[in-house]
Amino acid sequence: MKKRVAILGSTGSIGTQALEVIKENPDYFEIEVLTAYNNIELLAKQANEFQPNTVVIANEDKYDELSALLNDSAIKIYAGNDAIAQIVEMDTIDIVLTAMVGYSGLIPTINAIKSGKNIALANKETLVVAGELVQKLAFHHKVSIYPVDSEHSAIFQCLVGEGQNAIEKIILTASGGPFRGKEIDFLKTATKENALKHPNWEMGAKITIDSATLMNKGLEAIEARWLFGLNPNQIEVVVHPQSIIHSAVQFEDGSMKAQMGLPDMKLPILYALSFPERIKTDFPRFSFWDYPELTFEKPDLKSFKNLGLAFEAMDKCGNMPCILNAANEIAVEAFLRDKIGFCEMTDVIEQSMQKMNYIRHPELDDLIKTDQETREFSKSLIK
Ligand code: MG
Repeated sequence: MKKRVAILGSTGSIGTQALEVIKENPDYFEIEVLTAYNNIELLAKQANEFQPNTVVIANEDKYDELSALLNDSAIKIYAGNDAIAQIVEMDTIDIVLTAMVGYSGLIPTINAIKSGKNIALANKETLVVAGELVQKLAFHHKVSIYPVDSEHSAIFQCLVGEGQNAIEKIILTASGGPFRGKEIDFLKTATKENALKHPNWEMGAKITIDSATLMNKGLEAIEARWLFGLNPNQIEVVVHPQSIIHSAVQFEDGSMKAQMGLPDMKLPILYALSFPERIKTDFPRFSFWDYPELTFEKPDLKSFKNLGLAFEAMDKCGNMPCILNAANEIAVEAFLRDKIGFCEMTDVIEQSMQKMNYIRHPELDDLIKTDQETREFSKSLIK
């Protein structure tokens, strides 16, 4: 039986790579649903190639254009965020790959879990904002969440076969991004063009900026906490510029397992979709002879304050990670529009964390409200 896949965010970096993986493995997977935010040309092209049952475009203004592009096909077409949230409930979906950007992934992921769909999770913000709640729902509905993020896939792979053996700690590796080794004076004048040049990974704009500020690693720490049931003090970040060791787990006997490979998102995407199977690929293989030196450094928390803020939010828990995430999304967007400088992103996040109402045990409605209010406040800080 082929796995029938819904891809939320099919025109983004993870979405397009997932379609490549699926195209290379037609005996294992078929596409049931594709959704995109705005890019109707690419969505229509993907729909024509993969012939899903349904496509959804988030931007309702693009519905007519998309319909015109697909007018001689039998593919069902819907528009709007509500349609995306509902489409994941379709009976004919086996697994939902959540690859949209940011907070927008939350409600569709929750709906998919509630209707019993397994999740291949590429949208880390979902667990950052509502990790506790999402994990409870997944447990209740007997749904598995397979990580697509390369670090979390690495940890997940290290845990295969370990049964109830407890984790002592995990080591999340970070490339350090394009500004590794730079000090605050440099960062103050860093441009978005340079911030968008990641040394190892090809990714979308939002996550690439998050990698440059190290916020991405902070979001990943929070994501890991919920995925693997850890306390914040069990999560360590190590800068590893070559991005070959994708992360590691230390067990209670002192043994450490790491997962290695070339930096290529297609591997964790494939593993999340094919688990527990490993499917044969012709992806380029890692060779020690090409990497005679693998190096490791402590993260520079003085220059890259966002990582510290994320750990602070993780410690405080409640709605604080939601505040952190909303402020960060607004800050990154403002930086990408040249409205604020690189270090001012930190100011926006820090002030939002100080100013917004803290809720120790938020329900989903509280988180939705926190997200909205934080966005408004963060925007008010940006002139
Ligand atoms: Mg990652």
